[in-house]
Amino acid sequence: MAITHTPKVKAMMASKCPKCRVGKMFVGSTYGFRRQRMNDICPYCGFRFEIEPGYFYAAMYVSYGLSVVQVVAAGLLTYELTKSESPWVYLAVLMGIILIFAPFNFRYSRLILLYYLTPKVKYNPKYEDHPYDEA
Ligand SMILES: [Zn+2]
Repeated sequence: MAITHTPKVKAMMASKCPKCRVGKMFVGSTYGFRRQRMNDICPYCGFRFEIEPGYFYAAMYVSYGLSVVQVVAAGLLTYELTKSESPWVYLAVLMGIILIFAPFNFRYSRLILLYYLTPKVKYNPKYEDHPYDEA
């Protein structure tokens, strides 16, 4: 059987553990009826996602960056579509965008932080090399 290593971007989009790329980092889907929850440790390899106390405070900055991009894009798109000059139109759209993207940003700010902004978190391919060695 061929060994397949999950590409980094794909693993991140699927919100998999950054170390083994097998275990799921979150319980539930981004947009579900139940509030999404992050696992404390990877259910597959046991990696602790919050690598140090308060580590995910840094995710707030990532989340802020994502929000800015989304809000600016939504603002430009609203202008293109409506040509409106009413500030209330933009305010309503931006509030909606912020609410709609909140669960997405919660999840992906943490994923981006772990995958791309924390060099000491390393992918270890051994977990995918031996997918049936689960103890
Ligand atoms: Zn893992």
